[in-house]
Amino acid sequence: MDRPWHIPCSPRASLLNRRMLILRRALVPVSLLPGPLARTAVDAVEPALLCDVTLEAGRITAVAAAGAMAPAAGAVVEDLEGALVWPGLVDAHVHLDKAHTWHRAPNRSATFAEALMVLGRDKDHWTAADLERRAEFSLRCAYAHGTRIIRTHVDTGLPWAETSHAVMAALRSRWAGRIELQTVPLCGTGDFSTARGEKIADLALRHGASALGGFAVMSPELPAHFDRELAIARERGVGLDLHVDENGNPGSECLRLVAEAVLRTEFPYPVVCGHCCSLGVQPPARQRATLDLVRAAGLKVISLPLCNLYLQDRRAADAFPRHPSWRGLTLIQDMLDAGIPVACASDNVRDAFFAYGDFDLLEVYAQSVRLAHLDTRLAESVRVVSATAADIVGRPDAGRIAPGAPAQLVITAARSFSELLSRPAAPLRRWRTDPHAGIAGLS
Ligand SMILES: [Zn+2]
Repeated sequence: MDRPWHIPCSPRASLLNRRMLILRRALVPVSLLPGPLARTAVDAVEPALLCDVTLEAGRITAVAAAGAMAPAAGAVVEDLEGALVWPGLVDAHVHLDKAHTWHRAPNRSATFAEALMVLGRDKDHWTAADLERRAEFSLRCAYAHGTRIIRTHVDTGLPWAETSHAVMAALRSRWAGRIELQTVPLCGTGDFSTARGEKIADLALRHGASALGGFAVMSPELPAHFDRELAIARERGVGLDLHVDENGNPGSECLRLVAEAVLRTEFPYPVVCGHCCSLGVQPPARQRATLDLVRAAGLKVISLPLCNLYLQDRRAADAFPRHPSWRGLTLIQDMLDAGIPVACASDNVRDAFFAYGDFDLLEVYAQSVRLAHLDTRLAESVRVVSATAADIVGRPDAGRIAPGAPAQLVITAARSFSELLSRPAAPLRRWRTDPHAGIAGLS
């Protein structure tokens, strides 16, 4: 029987200026724990372990099964009474420049084509002040929901994209220490085969971009376009983070072409493919062959379940059946079976590509569990918004509750996966330790 809904106590002022914090009886998802603890046999429907966690000087310094850790003199000790605890969450794919435009650029047909059109028109409003106001609010939402690393794609046309990237770079500085903000330029992959290509790459990297990006569309020239973009990225020592196959056309095989290009050019840096929706509607033999290529090329995949559910399989008013029959997601289960890293992320929030959302990764996680049937692999599933997402954005130290990981914890009010997945209004409490000012508890 569930205990009464539990709201943890507020941080106490007495915690300030103390160097070490021990959280006792934290219920931690087992696959986010280090070494032997991660291999602890646990119930498949409640794959978590009661632990004691020590935080010191901005890092997690020790994790042990509850009760196994010796008392430390001078440490502040908090009993979490079995609250389910996550590491700071990692949102690996968002669009801060588009977010919160729904009120002035709604998508009345809720189709991909209208989303492109209305947001194309909305760019007239994208002044530095407008971008900063919407992106700042987005970061505040994400932070309140426990996110600590965000990678945003930034629409990158010349010359106006200078403003967008400059705003994101300023926000990166302002939010340092709370959220790590990564950027990736978004343009057509074919743009890299024009005179603009190197300018786009240099503009984005000058403003601190983490990778080159692009939106791929099937064409006879696409393999050559990928080769050129990979060459530009290789010259600059960065990887790619692409949008591919965000449609339900079985003939859309950009994912396969990316894998072939990476193998053909022996590209040495990380390559990430977002969406990969059309893979889900291809014949099984073709799906398997593509997954083999994706694995051989070392590609990483980001699924955007909420946005895909919203935009994919929209049907015209005169269609029969009018009812959607496809969730729109890529083959998350099969990718995980194949050992392909998969993260799930927010994508668009309250704009023409997705009318809803709040940069709430625990909502994304809960919906991903339902939509992709991840409840059959619940222990592993938590990694899609934490450890695997952190690996994909180049932060393999984050997204875990292990020695060396950042002392950024999300303490939920839930005391089981069942509560977490069933009661989405769970209040959160966040912790971090500040190496300069001692321990700070953040509410
Ligand atoms: Zn996207």
